[in-house]
Amino acid sequence: MKTMLSLDEASEIMSGICQATGTESVELMEALDRVLAEDVRAAEDIPPFDRSPFDGYALRAADLASASAEQPATLRVTEEIPAGNTPARTVNPGQAAKIMTGSPIPPGADCVVKFEEVSAEGAHVIVSAPFPSGRNIIPAGEDMGKGAMAAQKGTVINPAMIGLLASLGIQDVPVYLRPKVAILSTGNEIVPTGAAVLPPGKIRDSSAFALAGALRTNGAAPLFLGIARDEAEVIGEAIEDGLRDADMVITTGGVSVGDYDMVKEAVRQIGADALFWRIRIKPGAAILAALKHGKLILCLSGNPGAAMISFQLLAAPFIRRIAGHARWQNREIDVTLKEGFKKPSLCKRLVRGHLVIEDGRAVMSVTENQGNGVLSSFIGADLLGAIPEGSGPVPPGTRIKAYMTGG
Ligand code: AMP
Ligand code: MG
Repeated sequence: MKTMLSLDEASEIMSGICQATGTESVELMEALDRVLAEDVRAAEDIPPFDRSPFDGYALRAADLASASAEQPATLRVTEEIPAGNTPARTVNPGQAAKIMTGSPIPPGADCVVKFEEVSAEGAHVIVSAPFPSGRNIIPAGEDMGKGAMAAQKGTVINPAMIGLLASLGIQDVPVYLRPKVAILSTGNEIVPTGAAVLPPGKIRDSSAFALAGALRTNGAAPLFLGIARDEAEVIGEAIEDGLRDADMVITTGGVSVGDYDMVKEAVRQIGADALFWRIRIKPGAAILAALKHGKLILCLSGNPGAAMISFQLLAAPFIRRIAGHARWQNREIDVTLKEGFKKPSLCKRLVRGHLVIEDGRAVMSVTENQGNGVLSSFIGADLLGAIPEGSGPVPPGTRIKAYMTGG
């Protein structure tokens, strides 16, 4: 088992774990934020016919070639085409069809002139300027041509994709199953959050709740296993329960070097293969990764702030990958630090903060309280800035890399 490795080494090890996720079919209306499991090609043109973007007259541009205020073109209106109807006639030279927004362009016409640009007189329309051929004609397939790739496997389904799939008449969408991830809190001091009175020395279980939210944000379904005492057998049994029901188990607490830190021993006792323990980041150094039956057991610090950071850096990309996301890796951005960071950083230091755009440049505003146990500074934070290992104090204006974690 490797220990004290870099974040990149840990990420590398985790990216080698293969876990296949099954698929299911969901109704289009329920498909938002799911990951598309098959490529979808357009079986039809969208829109399906050439159409008018305005209320006006469909006509032949050639009839207007010499039209002017002095010598306007007078065309005979042969029919009216409301939206939903199809044209009954061809527009011949000297003719026009009254057309509404969204109606099909009649055969023969190659131009639409808006109501505001003409005057109507009985069964005639008078046009006093030329207009080019093709003007105001929306071609069939403007949005997507028949046979084109409408949506690619591995894409997160967003509202526009739902609309596009609806345009294609698709009612059920193949998506990857949400990975089920079991969460186990450990610690003799941890009590369920619902306790009316907090006994002395006890702490409400907040990490499990924050992680459940983070799991949902990344497309996984959390399954709460409860709180285990700091005893290796108890923890081991709970992890085994999690492995039975879920695709992955996340534990919090008891993974450092203290006398009551029993998670490592629990993982050993259940016969899981430890992949690594402790990485050179701060916060979040206390982390253990192990595999049993091909499923990942990821043991994070009990400190809610530290657990969130190691989750964002290691668990979130892993979950997105097994959930089928094509773009599963954390996105990185170069930022300029608005405030400096006074402490030196022996390990790679992750700081929470906000992305602000100043004079068109990406600037990171670091939030006040960066403590291991602190959750409040994650609220609305959308960046984790990475101060490189071995840095001294960093002054304002320093350029660093940051991971985009979402707000
Ligand atoms: P540990 O990782 O067990 O050393 O715990 C580190 C710190 O996090 C201690 O102050 C714990 O009381 C606290 N802690 C552990 N688990 C949780 C939890 N589930 N929710 C909130 N705080 C926790
Ligand atoms: Mg503990």
